[in-house]
Amino acid sequence: MNQHIHCIVNDCHYWQQGNKCVASEILVSTDAFGAGRPDRIDAAMAAKLTPASAGSCMATCCKTYVSRGSDDATLDGVKRMS
Ligand code: SF4
Repeated sequence: MNQHIHCIVNDCHYWQQGNKCVASEILVSTDAFGAGRPDRIDAAMAAKLTPASAGSCMATCCKTYVSRGSDDATLDGVKRMS
């Protein structure tokens, strides 16, 4: 599957000019999941996570977001274990 992820969050480490996400994989979750889990819960373990309903786009988030310049950023879109 050849996917293209477009993103307009330009303070994320994985954001690139042209509004592209260059992470090799990302995890989109409900806001509640994203707020309640540590950063190490991310795309690498997606297959083991329990899906949940969000109800609207307003209740979803990109859990892979990492602030530009953060030590947690890696090249593959998966945060470092802390
Ligand atoms: S990791 Fe998420 S927030 Fe960061 S550029 Fe990709 S889609 Fe946007």
